[in-house]
Amino acid sequence: MSNTQPTSQNLSDSRDCPATPDQPVLERIATRDGQIGTGLMIRRALPNPQRRMIGAWCFLDHIGPRDYGRGQGIAVGPHPHIGLQTFTWMIEGEMMHRDSLGYAQVIRPGQVNIMTAGRGISHAEDAVNDDPGHLHAAQLWIALPDAERHRAPAFDHHPELPVVEDGGFRVTVLAGAAYGQTSPARVYSPLLGLDLRCTDAAEIAIPLNPNFEHGLLVLSGTATVLGEPLAPGTLLYLGIGRATLAVLADAACQLLLIGGEPFDETVLLWWNFVGRDPADIAKATDDWNAGLGFGAVSGSPSPRLTAPDLSGIQLTSR
Ligand code: MN
Repeated sequence: MSNTQPTSQNLSDSRDCPATPDQPVLERIATRDGQIGTGLMIRRALPNPQRRMIGAWCFLDHIGPRDYGRGQGIAVGPHPHIGLQTFTWMIEGEMMHRDSLGYAQVIRPGQVNIMTAGRGISHAEDAVNDDPGHLHAAQLWIALPDAERHRAPAFDHHPELPVVEDGGFRVTVLAGAAYGQTSPARVYSPLLGLDLRCTDAAEIAIPLNPNFEHGLLVLSGTATVLGEPLAPGTLLYLGIGRATLAVLADAACQLLLIGGEPFDETVLLWWNFVGRDPADIAKATDDWNAGLGFGAVSGSPSPRLTAPDLSGIQLTSR
């Protein structure tokens, strides 16, 4: 995906939010409605003025669930990324990924695409056909640590992920490790991503790494977490220092749990770029608009995106 039209308000600086707490907390953070392209409605949970990142997770869009009419599906033309990994978790529906390394990969329900931008990649994401039907997905970005952010770009498709059953929930290990199972997705900092779903009333105590900060998002249905009723549209930030998390559901629901070691580097996020310094962002913007350094994407029916104008945005050096 491509970030929505950026303005000076959505330059995201990882230091521009409250400091990471050193203990468990409970913060309800409202997601913001957004739109990508002409009709793809999303709820953005990260970045947010209250929390810019959870571990290295620096971006979280919840897409759908929604029915799309003919010609109304995903159509995000070629666009660039630097300094991050895009992480797509497909729940319902399909999408075609094409990138400048030459990969063309359909992602289907239960599958993960992870694209490592490193020093630069471009990709496009489109509906598989013009009748996209039902779509439900999450797209996340993971900031690469400074020592890894200039690495060569890469793309991995994971058609199967580890699944365990606990307390009436079906738990899919999307990233990192839980319940003795490790996701095959290559990541470059200690982090966790779990999908949890139940089809009836269920109760689970999820084991957590107390060195991680965590956040929980309901994707469908409702749940109760530490006495907090939760529904789609609210990210529950949990802080650090928890060894377990009790989740109660009265009926079918689906949740996304993310976590990681607090990311101790400054991260600037603007449009589709993650950098450390305004110069990183400015160079990537200029290079993309000049057609330099990001390769080319073949086969997308959608037009190439142009990086927005940076000139009205104060990117002060720190
Ligand atoms: Mn993208």
